[in-house]
Amino acid sequence: MAEKRDYYEVLGVSKTATEAEIKKAYRQVAKKYHPDTNPDNPEAEQKFKEASEAYEVLSDAQKRAKYDQFGHAAFDQGGGSGPGGFGGFGGFEFTGQDMGDIFGDIFGGMFGGGSRSSARRNGPRQGANMRISIHISFEEAVFGTTKDVEITLSDDCKTCHGTGAAPGSAPETCSRCGGKGQVVYTQQSLFGTVQNVQTCPDCNGTGKVIKNKCPDCHGTGYVRNRKRIQITVPAGIDNGQTIRIAGKGEPGVNGGPRGDLMVVVLVGEHPIFQRDGYNIYSSAPISFTSAALGGTVTINTLDGPYQYTVNPGTQTDTRIRLRGKGVPSRRNKNVRGDHYVTLIVQVPEHLTGEQKDLLRQFEASLEGRNSQAGTAGKTEGFFSKKKKNK
Ligand SMILES: [Zn+2]
Ligand SMILES: [Zn+2]
Repeated sequence: MAEKRDYYEVLGVSKTATEAEIKKAYRQVAKKYHPDTNPDNPEAEQKFKEASEAYEVLSDAQKRAKYDQFGHAAFDQGGGSGPGGFGGFGGFEFTGQDMGDIFGDIFGGMFGGGSRSSARRNGPRQGANMRISIHISFEEAVFGTTKDVEITLSDDCKTCHGTGAAPGSAPETCSRCGGKGQVVYTQQSLFGTVQNVQTCPDCNGTGKVIKNKCPDCHGTGYVRNRKRIQITVPAGIDNGQTIRIAGKGEPGVNGGPRGDLMVVVLVGEHPIFQRDGYNIYSSAPISFTSAALGGTVTINTLDGPYQYTVNPGTQTDTRIRLRGKGVPSRRNKNVRGDHYVTLIVQVPEHLTGEQKDLLRQFEASLEGRNSQAGTAGKTEGFFSKKKKNK
């Protein structure tokens, strides 16, 4: 790992910055470099991790004091500071619903091994994801579309700037938990004294209580707004798949990022096409003369009517493949699946007398060959009778 930057420098605050200044600075940096707004940008991801780590330490008075005294050495592997972590499960250690929930796999093993991330229930938390579903047609799923939906989003209350406290007042540190967000209950049991750590009931784990609630949001810090947003449905999406729209979920807690909007896509059926992954299946009728003689048939595809040349002697239930006439891949819409068409030979009905005679002549012309191969008893009987009568 490259040499670590100073945590204060990372957040762009002075060494004497207040808790509020640090929080505000982190919020800005995290917003700017959040992976959801910078997809596939390793540099932004690195900056985001760096900022989150810096905030993790500087937002905690104890850790900050250690850092001020010892620098990064205070948190070297094995030198974990906080109480009772779970040790690393292959770099997958996160305790409770604090930092781990927000940064989860983004962080990977960064906090693994030690116990630095524990016991900070009032740290920043990402807001919850919201789920909605939309209905689209078969063709919209194949070629992509956009849909406008109305959702109810919670936004920071403008009156109190998201603090939940009435103008002129501020949230106070919770006296029950001393701002930790957790309380420790000591119980006597058969096995001795048991300590139970629970989320503080007075502040719900935030570490703050609001004595004088903001009249506009009733102390929640946010207001509900109806919003119209446009959802871009990528070509190739399939029934039941989800589109993630970053930052359109519930607001984060204590400066954490917003949750995401998860849009479940429900795709309607098509009257003639079936879909399996990126391939399309259908059947198409071909006339019995085209089947015998070969010829052009018109096949309905996703791209419209398609002229296909059948070989002479095509049997019913023959399956043909129209390459690249299937569904575009969600990753690259220039790559498309195939369209498999089962050709169904149509036997003519309601023949005129003349047509019947022509068919009889046709059959008679086959007779020499067919009598050797053996045809159906009834037909053969009919023709042999006719022959005798001649
Ligand atoms: Zn308010
Ligand atoms: Zn509390």
